[in-house]
Amino acid sequence: MLSIQNLTKTYPGGVRALRGISLEIPPGMFGLLGPNGAGKSTLMKILATLLDPDTGSAHLDSLDLIANKNTTRQLLGYLPQEFGVYPKMSAIDLLSHLAVMKGITNRSERKELVEGLLQQTNLWDLRKKNLGGFSGGMKQRFGIAQALLANPKLIIVDEPTAGLDPAERNRFLNLLSSLGSDRTVILSTHIVDDVRQLCPRMAIIASGELLLEGAPNDALAALHGRIWSKVVATGDELQALESQFQVISTHLVGGQHEVRVYANTSPGEGFLPVDSDLEDVYFLNLSQQAKAVLPN
Ligand code: ADP
Ligand code: MG
Repeated sequence: MLSIQNLTKTYPGGVRALRGISLEIPPGMFGLLGPNGAGKSTLMKILATLLDPDTGSAHLDSLDLIANKNTTRQLLGYLPQEFGVYPKMSAIDLLSHLAVMKGITNRSERKELVEGLLQQTNLWDLRKKNLGGFSGGMKQRFGIAQALLANPKLIIVDEPTAGLDPAERNRFLNLLSSLGSDRTVILSTHIVDDVRQLCPRMAIIASGELLLEGAPNDALAALHGRIWSKVVATGDELQALESQFQVISTHLVGGQHEVRVYANTSPGEGFLPVDSDLEDVYFLNLSQQAKAVLPN
């Protein structure tokens, strides 16, 4: 279990990136969902020992991650949001090099490990290609290969699917889901579908605060029967609804606005009850936080 207690972080200049985050993260895939600026990368960097919090603690079982950085690094695999590669090196050369840096000095052991990881991440046929010529998805799969070098117990991947096309994203999510349930994999993302597809547990954070923690299915069940949808033709009608009801989201569907409203009973004519989805959970939590912060 990864146990995070009351982490706070204020950057020089005054941005309060984390305002007291506490989380219990069990082994398996865990989704950390939040909009840009929520504090996801700050939290990931603290867990990856690259940044010190102002207060709070993080323990993986009995290991204090913040106090024991060297030990933590030995059981950590980290794919940062800005993952740079040496463009003129081939995948196999850079991965071997990184393996040496990780302390895997035995040649044959290293060869076996590196080749295995290239196969696991589906990069075997591309192993001699220069990383500079890799697509976004290939680069991210390479990022997973390097994160797996130390056979980590804790894997942290920060916004890995941003910028991937749908096929690359799918392939990448499949790779992540294959990493096993015996270790802890934290996936930070602003893409609700990433979490829906992969994570039995999740948290939503925004403005450095925890909004929700739990199983996506439980969060969906809590909204059951309270999500209503209607297609409106005009912007005026949309505005009228927004002033009257708690509009969770609007989507353009074939040029018209599909409006989703949160209400205990039908908001009125033309509304149909619809199944809640994780995006409803996400937007509802964000809008409730916005209201709490900015009362109107
Ligand atoms: P996320 O990854 O969820 O987008 P971040 O953790 O990157 O969020 O950022 C949280 C907040 O902290 C944002 O307001 C961001 O602008 C600010 N921030 C991030 N890094 C720094 C930094 N090095 N110096 C000052 N402010 C920062
Ligand atoms: Mg980030």
